[in-house]
Amino acid sequence: MIYKRVALIGLGLIASSMFWGMKRGALAGEVTGYARSAETRDTARRIGLCDRVCDSLAEAVQGADLVVLCVPVGVMGAVAAEMAAHLAPGATVTDVGSVKREVINAVGPHLPHGVHFVPGHPLAGTEHSGPESGFAELFDNRWCLLVRVPGSDPQAVAQLHAFWEGLGSNVETMDADHHDLVLAVTSHAPHLIAYTMVGVADDLGRVTDGEVIKYSAAGFRDFTRIAASDPTMWRDVFLNNKKATLEILGRFTEELFALQRAIRTGDGDHLHAYFTRTRAIRRGIIEAGQDTDAPDFGRGSTR
Ligand code: NAP
Repeated sequence: MIYKRVALIGLGLIASSMFWGMKRGALAGEVTGYARSAETRDTARRIGLCDRVCDSLAEAVQGADLVVLCVPVGVMGAVAAEMAAHLAPGATVTDVGSVKREVINAVGPHLPHGVHFVPGHPLAGTEHSGPESGFAELFDNRWCLLVRVPGSDPQAVAQLHAFWEGLGSNVETMDADHHDLVLAVTSHAPHLIAYTMVGVADDLGRVTDGEVIKYSAAGFRDFTRIAASDPTMWRDVFLNNKKATLEILGRFTEELFALQRAIRTGDGDHLHAYFTRTRAIRRGIIEAGQDTDAPDFGRGSTR
């Protein structure tokens, strides 16, 4: 057991996966849970998500030695303000938000002296959300990034590190701004591009009477999966990782224009060299064990 009592605030995909993972690894003595709506709390009780589902935030965090904020990035500050007075002295507060700098700015000032703040971000997810979408294996062999804030207690960081390893993750610490830039490249900008591509295809689909959907090939289907991700979560990600996302989108647009020009001018050498370079990156990801080499991601069908 790593923590005696863990409080999960927000009971969606990440929190429910953490709960099942904690049970699998016997990482916590008792797990309490709180979600904003009575509907989600009822669902949690029905499926046995959390040892005790509480009807108030105050009750959920009372006596917890680890509190995990699993709510959308845009409401982390408000939730921290509401729970602050009820936190146990010496408790660790962490979060799983996809953006780090703005969450630190929003949450940090509310936490009382003697409570340790160790922000985190598990790099694992699916396009599903809600209390019934979680599963114990979500974090297996995935990265979890922890961020040190000024004055963070090394023992609190080490304990949270061990906790995420217990959930199956590989853990690394990273500076908040570096985290936000890396994630803008690897996750945030790609999501925006997927949302855009699906939106464009949808507009075209209306013109061509549904053919875009009917004949959708693997590339486009992968975009639709990404673009099915939770709208609230992703709105908050872009609004709170503005600087890094705009920086990456600026670079993306420049590259896109260069490729567009190569197509217009018939510059096959440019296109071929570019695609050769990107193919090597895919090989690197597979060699690093971060994805499958199976055709069509192992779905067994390219239709
Ligand atoms: P989710 O499945 O949509 O669940 C969100 C939970 O937050 C719900 O239980 C919801 O309660 C609660 N909530 C929403 N607004 C709230 C408010 N104002 N006050 C209190 N509770 C509120 O979300 P998720 O996918 O688990 O994501 C949670 C966090 O993890 C986000 O910060 C996200 O950036 C981060 N994250 C997500 C992924 C991913 O792929 N999904 C990956 C890594 C990190 P109700 O059900 O009652 O509305």
